[in-house]
Amino acid sequence: MQSQLDCKTTFPSPVYGPVHSWQVGNSLGIDLLLQTSTCSFNCIYCQLGNIENKTKLRRLYVPTEQLEQALSTIDFSQIDIITFSGSGEPTLALNLGQAIRLVKSKTDKPVMVLTNGSLLFSKIVREHLQEVDIVAIKLDTAQEHVFQRMNRPVPGISLESIIQGAIQFRQEFQGKLCLQCMFMPANLVEAEAMIKIANDIQPDEIQLNTPRRPYPLEWHVESRGNHTALEYPSRKLATITKAETQRLEALIQSATQIPVISIYGSKGES
Ligand code: SF4
Repeated sequence: MQSQLDCKTTFPSPVYGPVHSWQVGNSLGIDLLLQTSTCSFNCIYCQLGNIENKTKLRRLYVPTEQLEQALSTIDFSQIDIITFSGSGEPTLALNLGQAIRLVKSKTDKPVMVLTNGSLLFSKIVREHLQEVDIVAIKLDTAQEHVFQRMNRPVPGISLESIIQGAIQFRQEFQGKLCLQCMFMPANLVEAEAMIKIANDIQPDEIQLNTPRRPYPLEWHVESRGNHTALEYPSRKLATITKAETQRLEALIQSATQIPVISIYGSKGES
């Protein structure tokens, strides 16, 4: 299997990892967005650093044939899950549906997509996502001005359109739907207002995180993995404490009756 390290010396592969994830275990990453970071957001905590290609337009970045070639050497036996994530927002890849079907034809392991939800208003994107087992949607705030400051979307994307897209998707999707919430001191007070949104969307699980990975000052393909010790310039980000995370976990769980897991919980890091 090609490892993350191999990517430093060879042409980057659309397959990377496995990356250990506290939410899902050993995750084989699929990146349909190479050659640089590409996203409709530019989150202040993004592990990719400042997004170089800020766009909400879908197009083909990595041909499905290239993915098929990369998958041909993979031994799936040590993998818990296959995750579409990588160098940005996976739903921007025009061939996402085709790539999901390809992965599904190679393995019975669960397939997940991490998305910022910005394209969930699109019927075709929601149709692509029907084919996976787990979809995790990012939700960091309940207020538009905090969304603009923290997630820094490209013009034309609003928090309300994402929430409405997520509600619509929930009605259609039979798989496991998660909300992924990144908390920093800047949005800690948002938690109570986010409870109403979570109740509107009705995910199967809510995941609470805080940015423990440093913010790279320049883009490197290795940043799509699990980097804690970087070989390139980066800066640490403000995180919330274990006690704050556990308080949020209890608060949200009791107010929504939806299972909540956190980076500091039993499945998370210590
Ligand atoms: S949505 Fe994800 S990939 Fe895009 S900027 Fe935010 S953290 Fe980075």
